[in-house]
Amino acid sequence: MNSKEDNIQKILKNIPQQRTLREGDIVIGEVVQTTDKIAIVNINNKSEHVLSPSATGILFINNASEDYVEKMGDVVRIGDIVKAKITEQDKFGFKIKISEPDLGVIKSYCKNCKAELNLTDASIKCLNCKTINTKKIGKM
Ligand SMILES: [Zn+2]
Repeated sequence: MNSKEDNIQKILKNIPQQRTLREGDIVIGEVVQTTDKIAIVNINNKSEHVLSPSATGILFINNASEDYVEKMGDVVRIGDIVKAKITEQDKFGFKIKISEPDLGVIKSYCKNCKAELNLTDASIKCLNCKTINTKKIGKM
């Protein structure tokens, strides 16, 4: 191997793993920021392997549910763990969606008392304080 090829090998080795994310990949991440229309997701897992460094996922409200949603807070909240699909990459990060039956929140905490929610319960009533939480639920 000549030195030029050697350099290319070194560069390839140092490309962050997030570059391996592709359109259609299923990823796991934590919601770190929300507005009414956008949620920012810290993607740190792609089909069982941990991404290091993590990648930024951007969820727009029209990709947050199969149904019409008025506010992002009605489907995801900060701290929720979501299963999402990469739809495209732009200069800001990866656009993601959870608007498919298996995609959505897979782990979440009550907005009132912070107890972990039982997401198999369709109404998502907190077992601790009885507050009703609304989510777009995904499946593991
Ligand atoms: Zn609660």
